[in-house]
Amino acid sequence: MINYFFRNQSIAIVLKYGIFGSLWVVLSDSVLEVFAGDFEIYKNLQTYKGWIFIFLTMIIVYILINKREKRIINATGESSKAIRELRHMAYYDTLTGLPNRAMFVSKIKNLVSSSRQKFAIAFLDIDNFKYINDTLGHYIGDDFLKFMAHKMSKEIKAPDMVARLGGDEFAILIRSFETKDILLNRLENIKNSIGNTWNSGSREFYISMSIGIAVYPDDGYDFDTLLKHSDIAMYAAKKEGKNKMFFYEEDIHYETIWHIQMANKLQKGLDCNEFELNYQPQVQLSTGDIIGTEALVRWNHPQEGYISPADFIPVAEITGQIYELERRIIKNVLIQKKKWEEQGLNDLELSLNLSGKSLISNSSFRQIEEIFSDYDVDYSNIVIEITETAAITHIDTAIERLNILKAKGLKIALDDFGTGYSSLTYLRRLPIDIVKLDKSYIGNGDKKDISIIKFIVSLAHDLGIRVIAEGIETIEQYDYLRTIECECGQGYYLGRPMYIDELNELLTEKFEQK
Ligand code: C2E
Ligand code: CA
Ligand code: CA
Repeated sequence: MINYFFRNQSIAIVLKYGIFGSLWVVLSDSVLEVFAGDFEIYKNLQTYKGWIFIFLTMIIVYILINKREKRIINATGESSKAIRELRHMAYYDTLTGLPNRAMFVSKIKNLVSSSRQKFAIAFLDIDNFKYINDTLGHYIGDDFLKFMAHKMSKEIKAPDMVARLGGDEFAILIRSFETKDILLNRLENIKNSIGNTWNSGSREFYISMSIGIAVYPDDGYDFDTLLKHSDIAMYAAKKEGKNKMFFYEEDIHYETIWHIQMANKLQKGLDCNEFELNYQPQVQLSTGDIIGTEALVRWNHPQEGYISPADFIPVAEITGQIYELERRIIKNVLIQKKKWEEQGLNDLELSLNLSGKSLISNSSFRQIEEIFSDYDVDYSNIVIEITETAAITHIDTAIERLNILKAKGLKIALDDFGTGYSSLTYLRRLPIDIVKLDKSYIGNGDKKDISIIKFIVSLAHDLGIRVIAEGIETIEQYDYLRTIECECGQGYYLGRPMYIDELNELLTEKFEQK
């Protein structure tokens, strides 16, 4: 009860006043008698006692009220600081300090409802950010994002705005521009202000980003449409080979949406481990023996069923998901190779397809090398299949890396031979052991095709390169290829791609027949 009275500030003041007043009434006369020995002085002081009382109570009441006011000011100050902090958290990104998605949404919605003026949204995505995060860890990845945010916020000032939408995605609002060229120029300046490289410790990274642009009101009347369209344009830019800027256009729409959906499905597929391997036999044509197998990735999507690698590998290459996918495939293949070695099948060659992207990318290649050094298998029976189109783009790097793999004992096969441009040059320059003749030559027994096959087989033999003919579907094709001394073949006639159990059965059958 007493506690309650003292905690209630107003009652406390009144109580304190009451206590002081009572003490005054009870004690003031006695105190006065002690100090004023003389009656005359006592009488004079009595006259002033009332004034002294008023003066003292004024001071006390002032002190009490002042104390209370200060407390109230402090308390409201603290709570408005807390409110400010909450507001900041709701509208700003904690990592970079930039406005966040919510802030950006509200800004664009305001603009759409309040002005009829043109503005643009640029959707910016850092190319290969996943690399930095995957190879160097999240802390370094975060540093990079902070660096980007810092550079952009220095360049982009109100009424324009830059926000972090999440992950490595940023959105830029550009308000006044007369033409698309001026807008592009402005974005180019922003890119230049970020620079081409970023250093972390002793490492230097090349900065590359894809930007998609949507303009209000041409490309959409509301926030969602504008953002979706700038995202589609960004994706189209990425598809064109990254480090590009694209305006949204109607006709990029459908194909790109298909790609975006595929990329999302791929991510779920990776998260849920939906990928498996099939193995297709490779046969020595003179004896009919299985001498090797090619690992082919299979994706049995939980809702859509089988999705062909010819459909999803190109998308995975654009998004960079190929690196993760290929690392998993390589690990699986090496585990399988080890099992075969333990079963005594040491000589069985195991081929795997390596995307040109994985070969050329520094960090991806480094990780692949690490995987190879983690598994103790006989690498002289592992074959890496690459396509010449992949090798052409960075021929010197490709040669250097293929030589590194060869030094570990691996063999190199040039896949889909004959479908690229200047195959013969690459036959000479690339350090290859095997040529895989593309199935389009084997197909229909066309006279010209037959001459080409004959020529390629003899040329390869002169260069000390083995030939594997792909896509053998009939006994006629099989017989013919044998007569021209093509040593190996692969195709539905010799064996379809199959799951490992099926292949193992086939291998034991063949083994027992011997
Ligand atoms: P590829 O490397 O040329 O693989 C051979 C493709 O031909 C496979 O298609 C195989 O199923 C198919 N094939 C085999 N024998 C015959 C035949 O007699 N007739 C016909 N018409 N086709 C035959 P798949 O599995 O659909 O793979 C398509 C492509 O996807 C592959 O072509 C390869 O470029 C890529 N791919 C498949 N698996 C992987 C992988 O693990 N990593 C990478 N990077 N690419 C892969
Ligand atoms: Ca292949
Ligand atoms: Ca092929």
